[in-house]
Amino acid sequence: MTGLYDSFQRPVNYLRISVTDRCNLRCVYCMPEDGVPLLRHSDILSYEEIYDIARAAAGLGINKVRLTGGEPLVRASLSRLVKMLASISTIDEISLTTNGTLLAESVAELKAAGLKRVNISLDTLQPERFQSITRRGTLADTLKGITAAQDAGLNPVKLNMVVMAGVNDDELNNFAAKTVTDGWHVRFIEVMPFAGKPPAESGFFPVSAMKQRIESLGKLEPVLHTAGNGPAKYYRLPDATGTIGFITPVSEHFCYQCNRLRLTADGKLRPCLMSDREIDLKDALRRNVPAEDLQDLIRQAVAAKPRAHHLAEGCVPQGRFFSQIGG
Ligand code: SAM
Ligand code: SF4
Repeated sequence: MTGLYDSFQRPVNYLRISVTDRCNLRCVYCMPEDGVPLLRHSDILSYEEIYDIARAAAGLGINKVRLTGGEPLVRASLSRLVKMLASISTIDEISLTTNGTLLAESVAELKAAGLKRVNISLDTLQPERFQSITRRGTLADTLKGITAAQDAGLNPVKLNMVVMAGVNDDELNNFAAKTVTDGWHVRFIEVMPFAGKPPAESGFFPVSAMKQRIESLGKLEPVLHTAGNGPAKYYRLPDATGTIGFITPVSEHFCYQCNRLRLTADGKLRPCLMSDREIDLKDALRRNVPAEDLQDLIRQAVAAKPRAHHLAEGCVPQGRFFSQIGG
């Protein structure tokens, strides 16, 4: 077999790279109101270091890369990194996950640098609610980012909504209707407990209940092939040009098809989002080890991927917030 396979014969070809732990928002399900203790600038990987890791990983079979954060667009000149990654011939897709607030001003440059696709987080269509969920954002900025990404041709632009009971679940059908009226591609995500907050306190709203509610608009027909490599299952409402995806990290975990590694902004490779195990690549990089040694560490991270997480049994990682890992 060529390429990277973990101990459970799952192929691993996808690297999520967190380029910063900083964010201009403070979403209630992701960060505490006062933010999190920030990394020192000297602890954050430079673009050159990220490039070295991506090149070593590409040499082993990683061919898809997603940039995330914190908010990736708060880091200066992100398009420079995109361009560097696009120069690695075996990486065939570079994508971005963003809150969209700063996207309108940089999307053309990012596209020209080689960005192929973008996922934008959007949890509500109500301006005041947007402020209360993000604690400091403005809905109009994210909507402007969405339009700019669509106009730039980064399609399909996927919109990620974290659904929380009593917070925004009453907007499910408004989002779903947008797949018919505006061709939106939306993905509804079950809120994951973070930093010890159990599901009951995070407003957990299961996908089964989301589907039931959306089906009041029409029957959801499964869609088999959509662009991307995520864990979502896709459906379409009658006459919709857009799709509806469901991501069920809690109620029905998709670990059996997990194909990814995560690189934190401070250079730790994380075999699993939901486990605190990490392998330090920054230390190796800064000791100037040869690329083969970096590749050995990447193989170790792949070998350390657990079969599955244990969220449903209440095992929640304690080490980092999602904003520090990249979601
Ligand atoms: N700042 C960017 C954004 O918001 O898209 C990228 C980083 S954010 C950590 C990546 C994704 O993780 C977002 O789609 C966000 O909604 C999701 N996320 C964060 N905390 C979550 C939680 N507790 N449960 C489910 N999804 C979460
Ligand atoms: Fe920032 Fe994204 Fe976390 Fe919201 S979800 S606080 S935008 S990192």
